[in-house]
Amino acid sequence: MNSNEIDIHQELKKYFGFSQFKGLQEQVINTLLNKENTFVIMPTGGGKSLCYQLPALIQEGTAIVVSPLIALMKNQVDAIRSLSTENGVAHVLNSSLTKTEIAQVKKDITSGLTKLLYVAPESLTKEEYVAFLQTVTISFVAIDEAHCISEWGHDFRPEYRNLKHIIKQLGDVPIIGLTATATPKVQEDILKNLDMTDATTFKASFNRPNLYYEVRTKTKNIESDIIRFIKQHKGKSGIIYCLSRKKVEAIAEVLQVNGISAVPYHAGLDAKTRARHQDMFLMEDVDVVVATIAFGMGIDKPDVRFVIHHDIPKSLESYYQETGRAGRDGGEGHCLAYYSYKDVEKLEKFMSGKPVAEQEIGFALLQEVVAYAETSMSRRRFLLHYFGEEFDDVNGEGADMDDNVRNPKTKVEAIDQVVQLLEVVRDTKHLYKSKEVVFTLIGRVNAVIKAHRTDTQSFFGCGSDHDEKYWMALLRQVLVAGYLSKDIETYGIVKITNKGLNFIKNRESFMMSEDHEYNETEDEAIVT
Ligand code: ADP
Repeated sequence: MNSNEIDIHQELKKYFGFSQFKGLQEQVINTLLNKENTFVIMPTGGGKSLCYQLPALIQEGTAIVVSPLIALMKNQVDAIRSLSTENGVAHVLNSSLTKTEIAQVKKDITSGLTKLLYVAPESLTKEEYVAFLQTVTISFVAIDEAHCISEWGHDFRPEYRNLKHIIKQLGDVPIIGLTATATPKVQEDILKNLDMTDATTFKASFNRPNLYYEVRTKTKNIESDIIRFIKQHKGKSGIIYCLSRKKVEAIAEVLQVNGISAVPYHAGLDAKTRARHQDMFLMEDVDVVVATIAFGMGIDKPDVRFVIHHDIPKSLESYYQETGRAGRDGGEGHCLAYYSYKDVEKLEKFMSGKPVAEQEIGFALLQEVVAYAETSMSRRRFLLHYFGEEFDDVNGEGADMDDNVRNPKTKVEAIDQVVQLLEVVRDTKHLYKSKEVVFTLIGRVNAVIKAHRTDTQSFFGCGSDHDEKYWMALLRQVLVAGYLSKDIETYGIVKITNKGLNFIKNRESFMMSEDHEYNETEDEAIVT
């Protein structure tokens, strides 16, 4: 039991009606009740909200919950109010409130009635709010969607960077950070930026065994392919993500014309239409929502059966988050992404207008998406590796749930090539990213290689009996196997690991999957 000797099981039943904690919830709650800084990394649907809602409800004082989206906060406040007889148990504090409403919120907090106060990060920077919060008892501060603090996350929000400074002004209150997307780099960033490297970290597995992952080459027939796919899933709910509003409109129309009940959703539609379309989807008046990434944050529809990406996403974090909306009830969830290198170039072009640092990060994240799309190994293993998790692609849960595993590409012995590759990385002394490593192997010169005079080395061109595509594929597989690692801080410098050094000494079999061949076709203009 926690230091406060509260029976949290009883409280769980009392407030939420659940008889058991889910996953790591109990440990998280006990840590927070012990007033320790706590960091929670759980995939969407893991039950993060309860990790701060329950401790807030049963402790003295008010918990401040920082959340990036007003709509999300409103849902949460409604949910909490439904658990209590008092409306004042939860409030939102933001600039849309009238003076009278603000006075009521303050009164409820001061009287000890309010257990959860939801604020957007920009509201928390207001001096008058901070001054008020300094006069009341704060149980803890919860930072929801904590990855917004990191430029390496998929949803960087600069206002999150001020949080540490503001929380410090509130006195010595514990912090709980929560996120559903955290690569090791983002995790490190969160802990550093919230100044809580001492936090106890709880990380749940990101494996979603019921999701099936598939990548198809994007051709000019993509629309008929999507229509066929949806017709095979007749009457089931699904989301189609596109990168532009124009494409959203066009695809929604094509689907409608083909007898599929679909509505568009993007930020360019007025709020009323957006709300109507969202409700239609939730109430099952339509089967399919065609949307930009504006759709989905906080959508808790348990039986979404497929998530299609018409265009590749900007990062694997976004991809994981978006596909995570499928199969939340544990049932079938088909995640289909269409891939074309042209889309990558489009995204790169789009990013080229941004500040240099942002561009570099954007390119590095995009490269990982390309690697995912092009890989011929277990997609689940690839994804989980990206999130710092090792997955057993033979016996792991859901191991057979992807296209690459179901239809394996031919495997070939590549032991000699792995050694060649590892030696080149070792002997070029961790100077290069994937591209230059591969160029060194095939003996191609570029400015970077010239600058380091690698073209004068004896090993330059030692792997010229295979082409660039082969070496890129091998390099990716060797990375995932852990013989090499990629340093994200330097935007992708490839390094050899101890495991890799061992491999050179004690060579063992390495079966490489041959990569896909992509026949790209022009994406035709859509006729609507
Ligand atoms: P997340 O924020 O991690 O995406 P949520 O907090 O929205 O997850 O929780 C996902 C679902 O799990 C919700 O429907 C919630 O009611 C349910 N849930 C949370 N904790 C429990 C529990 N202990 N027992 C049963 N269901 C739970």
